[in-house]
Amino acid sequence: MADCKDIMVYVETAEGNPVKVALEMLSPAKELADAKGGKVIAVVIGNNIHDAAQKIAQAGADQVLMIDAPEYEKYNMDVYADVLANLMKEISPEVLFIGGTQDGKDLAPILSSKFEAGCASDVMNIKIDDTGKIVFTCPLYGGTILEDIEITSFPKIAVLRSGAFPKLEDSTTGEIIEKQVSISNDCIHANIVETVKEIAESVNLEEAEVIVSGGRGMGNKDDFKMVEDLSNLLGGVVGATRPAIEEGWISKIHQVGQSGKIVAPKLYIACGISGATQHISGIMNSDYIVAINKDEDAPIFEVANVGIVGDVKKVLPIMIEEIKKIKEAQ
Ligand SMILES: Cc1cc2nc3c(=O)[nH]c(=O)nc-3n(C[C@H](O)[C@H](O)[C@H](O)COP(=O)(O)OP(=O)(O)OC[C@H]3O[C@@H](n4cnc5c(N)ncnc54)[C@H](O)[C@@H]3O)c2cc1C
Repeated sequence: MADCKDIMVYVETAEGNPVKVALEMLSPAKELADAKGGKVIAVVIGNNIHDAAQKIAQAGADQVLMIDAPEYEKYNMDVYADVLANLMKEISPEVLFIGGTQDGKDLAPILSSKFEAGCASDVMNIKIDDTGKIVFTCPLYGGTILEDIEITSFPKIAVLRSGAFPKLEDSTTGEIIEKQVSISNDCIHANIVETVKEIAESVNLEEAEVIVSGGRGMGNKDDFKMVEDLSNLLGGVVGATRPAIEEGWISKIHQVGQSGKIVAPKLYIACGISGATQHISGIMNSDYIVAINKDEDAPIFEVANVGIVGDVKKVLPIMIEEIKKIKEAQ
């Protein structure tokens, strides 16, 4: 069993599509599989999921195991964990990758306990050391410390942070294999009786390419609207620090940071944000950070690619006007 070098990737879907982190996980999976001489085996579970399986096959998985049946229509932690466990017993992958989504964070510890397997959480980097061991890098204490972890068990389970790995650029198309997996009735400890969709704005911070965030430095709810205006102009999503939410300027769903969303946009604009560790730990994977703060010693400038020392109430209206002009001229 311990000779198997395959890397298994659990592909979560949302509205019929693989979630972003599922596609991202294929790149470290491919690197590990190539280094070890194994295959990348993706697993998709659901009902009518052929399109999602196709997308994953085209995104670089060598094999896609498709578990497609009406009973898998809705995510049930016990059922999905049982399916994955049965497949793991059959395939014996060296590593199982799970995306760091809400459901992924449920599944990983269950599977870890089923196999008595070591589990690395919130993995931001993976490498193979000189002796061929896999090393997972995970943040501690809100990202102030990065820890390298080696898992000695077989299999190994790793929960990968969304946005930490790039999607594969050159990918080949793998084969889709439809599989039947029988699950035992006694695996189900809880049934979902009803799913109620929250009537609230939906905010997809994790997948946003542009995020404009406001902090306490925005001063009040009216001025916070400038953050929303800039975000709308750039086709982005609005983020916020915890104090901006506690002030009631915007809802909790917009919180970025350790106890909010971990984001990885191409552009992150921080307006009136000091740069506390608990906020920075959530934006570390952004490609480009622009910070506006009136205090030139604000810690946010240490992580910003461009820092603007100034009053947000003066800088933001100018930015908004200039971007409008550029857009009108296009
Ligand atoms: C367990 C725990 C979890 C937490 N989780 C999170 C989290 O997920 N996300 C999060 O954001 N925080 C979180 N926090 C809170 C965090 O510690 C900080 O308090 C918070 O991030 C600070 O938010 P801020 O930058 O908006 O406010 P402040 O730290 O008060 O900074 C405001 C900044 O605005 C600047 N400013 C003021 N006026 C202006 C102006 N007119 N123009 C320009 N700049 C101006 C100031 O110079 C200052 O740098 C957490 C804290 C704990 C203990």
